[in-house]
Amino acid sequence: MGYDAVLLDNDGVITTITDRTVLARAVRDAFRDMGVEDPDDADVEDLVIGVTPDRLAAVAGRYSLDPRAFWYRRDLRSSLVQEREIYAGRKPLYDDVAALSEIPLPMGIVSSNQHRTIEAILDHYGLRNRFATFYGREMDPTSLARKKPATHYVDKAVADLKATNPLFVGDSESDLQAARRAGMDSVFVERDHTDPSAFRVEPTYVIDSLRELPKLVDGNP
Ligand SMILES: [Mg+2]
Repeated sequence: MGYDAVLLDNDGVITTITDRTVLARAVRDAFRDMGVEDPDDADVEDLVIGVTPDRLAAVAGRYSLDPRAFWYRRDLRSSLVQEREIYAGRKPLYDDVAALSEIPLPMGIVSSNQHRTIEAILDHYGLRNRFATFYGREMDPTSLARKKPATHYVDKAVADLKATNPLFVGDSESDLQAARRAGMDSVFVERDHTDPSAFRVEPTYVIDSLRELPKLVDGNP
């Protein structure tokens, strides 16, 4: 049976990834919002990407901060700086995103970025109509256990699209893991920033451009 929907990650697939130093600055701003002027560099680093609930609890505990209030500031600051990057042209779409218009299937986005950041991207680049559904994280610590490789948001998107055989397109191991756990075939898109050599999950397909995606979907009727 052919694929009946396509889900895509955002960062590194649709838009370029955000400069790490920008994200680190947002974490420092969040500390400052909470009254911590000079956090330890290692604690800032710990909250830049790939944050787990346990890691957040450990860092918040060291400064006697409420994890929920702190995390809201961290996510809001992160989303605001990313919006600025988008408007300044420093978080552009990849050129090959245009090829998605040739795919005659419903499409969705499942991102571990904040939902409001994905909204800003879709609005700024005029992509609201291209995607039938999209999920980013709520700005709450509970979302950290729900993001990929968990299937929480993937499952929601699949249900929204009423898909029975969707395909997931991503650039990271967590994308491939989430796809496998959700019982979906996966596509790894090779970008300059990715190194799949250490991945513990094999994708179903590897492509070096989204331009290969329409044919790949079409070739599996
Ligand atoms: Mg990604």
